[in-house]
Amino acid sequence: MGRVTAGLDENVTRKDRDEQQAARRRQKANGERYQDALAAVRAQNTGHEHPAVDLLFLVNAPYACGQPIDLDLAAKVVAACRAGCVSCQTTLIPLLEADRATIAVLAGSLYVLLPGGLGSLPPVAQAWQPLAMHARLSNDGWQALAALQAMNDTDVHDLLDNVLDHWAAGGADLRFLALALHDGEDDDEDDAGPSPEYALVPGLMQASRGPLPALFLDPKTSAAGVDDLRGRCGWQPWDMTVVPEVDPFWWLRMEIATRSISEIAHTDLEGWDDVTLWQSPEPVPVARDWWDLVDRVEQVLLCGPVTCAGYDNPAAALQAAARRGEVLATVARARFW
Ligand SMILES: [Zn+2]
Repeated sequence: MGRVTAGLDENVTRKDRDEQQAARRRQKANGERYQDALAAVRAQNTGHEHPAVDLLFLVNAPYACGQPIDLDLAAKVVAACRAGCVSCQTTLIPLLEADRATIAVLAGSLYVLLPGGLGSLPPVAQAWQPLAMHARLSNDGWQALAALQAMNDTDVHDLLDNVLDHWAAGGADLRFLALALHDGEDDDEDDAGPSPEYALVPGLMQASRGPLPALFLDPKTSAAGVDDLRGRCGWQPWDMTVVPEVDPFWWLRMEIATRSISEIAHTDLEGWDDVTLWQSPEPVPVARDWWDLVDRVEQVLLCGPVTCAGYDNPAAALQAAARRGEVLATVARARFW
């Protein structure tokens, strides 16, 4: 009898712990209060699916050195973490813990985006991060993978725990709808005058609470760039892991008649513009999907400087800038008029 009771207690404790961990991830992912997240976690049923997470963009990451990886399993685990689903996490995370090559891909693609020496990372992650950086720069991940394969189970568990916290919080998976500005936006690059000017590159941030429209600011004059965004605009450094807080004084102004972006500005306490970051001389229509998304969420992530020239796509340019620790960001509210 004693053993049965002990077994039950053990199960209850383990279930509690799993629920608390799932709730913590769900809290981070959704910005909910912990108690709300815990209640949602406990209310969940089994035999279900979570909103799909697409990790196929990781398929060519250098961290697995050509070994088979299971991105389908990884995507299911990330989805379960975002949903705070205990039963799926309990079932799937042990499978992932046994798959070091897939962990290498999830961990490497994340840690190369974080600034080095982050005290918030567990020691095992701090020690492994430089190997991931090296893998990224040399396009050769064997050292990183070998180190991961040599880790004991506790270290792998700690590393994966941290990796999943970040993935659950979103931000690591960034994808883009399209470049939504009209062609020719890049044509007037000849001017290197003193006023800071940027080209806007609309994108989509796949955040854990849902898609978030983004605008990347590509500097077009020498006065535009990190100093301008930090000094004049007061933006904060952004490591791409968590969506910044909304700044109620930054505005994206959208003109309904032309379905275009007309202005990005900061207002003072009395509502007067004190910084005009971007202003269109003529209406610049944006893609319909992007407009509709801004209309729905009424917020936009502003980030930069993202110099797109020389990169395959804005995502690659943004990630490169983030690796250098040079990206600043804020979240503006959208106003339609
Ligand atoms: Zn589930």
